[in-house]
Amino acid sequence: MILPILAYGDPVLKKKCTDITKDYSNLNKLINDMYATMDKAHGVGLAAPQIGKPIRLFIVDASGFEDEYPDTADFVQTFINPVIIEESGTEWAFNEGCLSIPGIREDVMRKPTIVVQYFDEDWELIEEEFDGIIARIIQHEYDHIEGKLFVEHLSSFNRTMLRGKLNDITAGKVEVNYRMKFPKK
Ligand code: ZN
Repeated sequence: MILPILAYGDPVLKKKCTDITKDYSNLNKLINDMYATMDKAHGVGLAAPQIGKPIRLFIVDASGFEDEYPDTADFVQTFINPVIIEESGTEWAFNEGCLSIPGIREDVMRKPTIVVQYFDEDWELIEEEFDGIIARIIQHEYDHIEGKLFVEHLSSFNRTMLRGKLNDITAGKVEVNYRMKFPKK
């Protein structure tokens, strides 16, 4: 089932999300719906708060980057209750976008290498190091479950420049070819 993606301005996107337990109801269906929703919107990642659930769960599918980054093309992973336990290296810029903020892309600085502890869909506890574009997507999705959006990494000047566009998104005044829910429409 394709779920509506919450747009910038929705209060759920500002929430620090909570861990879930193995008996979280219909978790498999929720994860399947999130993959269907992300695919339909041609996203490379989707976090549960973006579909209205303030829980620590996100999915990543790096195949959208196969032209630029062929070695990451088959990376698909579900992250449950993830914790970034380490970030290292010299910050680099990458032009990020977000399904909740359509039409806006901005360079964001982040460290290149991370170590993440998470449960996969079989509730196996995994500790893994990632770098480059996959680390970047994970950091972006991880921000979502901390209640943070990529535009909050921008300078106050750049955010002020975007204010009008962000208000338009909140009001639904934006062209988008996937299902969204706008807080002020
Ligand atoms: Zn996002």
